[in-house]
Amino acid sequence: MRIGVLASQGAFAEHIAILRQLEVEALPVRLLQGLRGLDGLIIPGGESTSISRLMLAYNLVTEIRELAKNGLPIFGTCAGMILLANKISDLDAEPIGVMDITVRRNAFGRQTDSFETELKIPVLGEKPFPGIFIRAPLIEQAGSEVEILARLANGTDVAAKQGKLLACAFHPELTNDLRFHQYFLDIVSGRQ
Ligand code: GLN
Repeated sequence: MRIGVLASQGAFAEHIAILRQLEVEALPVRLLQGLRGLDGLIIPGGESTSISRLMLAYNLVTEIRELAKNGLPIFGTCAGMILLANKISDLDAEPIGVMDITVRRNAFGRQTDSFETELKIPVLGEKPFPGIFIRAPLIEQAGSEVEILARLANGTDVAAKQGKLLACAFHPELTNDLRFHQYFLDIVSGRQ
């Protein structure tokens, strides 16, 4: 199994390290050629405006959009979730826009309002998942084809799946818990 991690900007090295722990081939993707022959793609957290501008400069946006429409599994974390959403408040850049979710950027405040919390994610089993939120977005609305996978205690939606597209507002790549990445690999292999 060969998974690309968009390496324009942000926390791509951490995703690659987790994928290698799970013993799959993980490749940084910076150029169009890097999108060839992938079984799945991860778009990491970072700064969505910067990632979007770099993707545009390297002609990646249209290609990733087409690949998603043709069924390539894609997992977006934090800024990556913002870029997958089809409605985003206050993004001054072009998203990929393939998931039917409305996302609000920096929804919890500034960098200093970043936080960690235990999340109940039923698809990952009973054990709570460590949710690390860094200037995180939230999901304000989701279309009927979207399954919400995780909510904060106050009911805010923070992770979603639509077909083979997966998104979360937090950073599983900054934890030692491999379950969220394993869940994505299960989507890639058709087990989910
Ligand atoms: N605040 C960032 C943005 O809007 C996302 C933060 C993150 O990816 N940790 O792009």
